[in-house]
Amino acid sequence: MKLELNIQPLESWIQAKSEPLLIAGPCSAETEEQLVATAHLLAQTGKVTALRAGIWKPRTRPGEFEGIGSIGLEWLKRAKEETGLPTAVEVANAKHVEEALKAGVDILWVGARSTVNPFTVQEIADALKGVDVPVMVKNPVNPDLSLWIGALERINGAGITKLVAIHRGFSSHEKSAFRNEPMWDLAINLKTHAPNLPIICDPSHICGNRELLGYVAQKALDLDMQGLMIESHIDPSVAWTDAKQQVTPAVLVEIIDRLTLRKPELQGAAKDVLAELRTQIDKLDDVVFQKMAERMKIVEKIGNYKKENDITILQVNRWDEILNKRVAYAKALNLSPEFAEKLLELIHSESIRKQTEIMNKGQENQPQEKLTHA
Ligand code: PEP
Ligand code: MN
Repeated sequence: MKLELNIQPLESWIQAKSEPLLIAGPCSAETEEQLVATAHLLAQTGKVTALRAGIWKPRTRPGEFEGIGSIGLEWLKRAKEETGLPTAVEVANAKHVEEALKAGVDILWVGARSTVNPFTVQEIADALKGVDVPVMVKNPVNPDLSLWIGALERINGAGITKLVAIHRGFSSHEKSAFRNEPMWDLAINLKTHAPNLPIICDPSHICGNRELLGYVAQKALDLDMQGLMIESHIDPSVAWTDAKQQVTPAVLVEIIDRLTLRKPELQGAAKDVLAELRTQIDKLDDVVFQKMAERMKIVEKIGNYKKENDITILQVNRWDEILNKRVAYAKALNLSPEFAEKLLELIHSESIRKQTEIMNKGQENQPQEKLTHA
């Protein structure tokens, strides 16, 4: 499914100060001094294209700092006047949109906790009707691509064509090194659905710490994302929100300078080398699929045999045996056991689906089952 979004290319409305495009600033505007001083240091780096700051903070628990509110818009105005940096704030309702626009904020973004709620997104979209302002939409907190797409469609439907998606990771119950799991495949999926939609990455909220920022930023660039949003505070140790993940403007520069910018388009010899290697991959993929088809033919035979002889589809011992043997074999071939296990599970669930189909052939009202491991 391709998304029908009417979008202007990023370069047509924002000129990066340097590569990659970088939006930086504190998680929250705390005081006028903190914001303006941070803005000056960021502007002096020559690498920052726009200044971000949270004015209204959506906090998970009440009682935490919920943002400085409208007064912060005045501070942003001053920061912009003194540094020339365009400004960006998060909006979570119609009132925020109106106030931010009135204060001359240049870019609005929809936060992860708003993207999850279609009512909220629609309220923001309605408030944006007839306005020509860039809007960035963060992915929803939960790993649901449709919600992200839906929010982009609602904002685009309001006539916003300077539209950008921000990948900030997804919450997960699994313990991990990240505050929010990157789940890169979801961002890649969005790109596949909407090839003309610019996507930038927010390593700060993915990492939740300073140490991994460079790693995530590099990975985002290698996946051809078009920019970064990174939280930067004049003194992260005393930040009122997200203290663990913010960096000083000086550290931000170090992180950016260490990034390698790679080109999506290859020229000359490199192009030929890559074309040749891709041909080899295509041939191997064909073989993998031929073998898969052969495997499924045998699965069908087994299914028919089991049906004729009233044998259950699933025999746990057999499955354990396949899994253990193949995972060990995969390891010997230098394939990761996790990959081997996932691949086998996918193949196995398709085999079971096929056999179930055979078992139930001729019976009415069978629901169409989906692959469980897809
Ligand atoms: C933020 O950018 O400070 C923020 C609240 O982010 P998110 O919506 O991604 O949690
Ligand atoms: Mn934050």
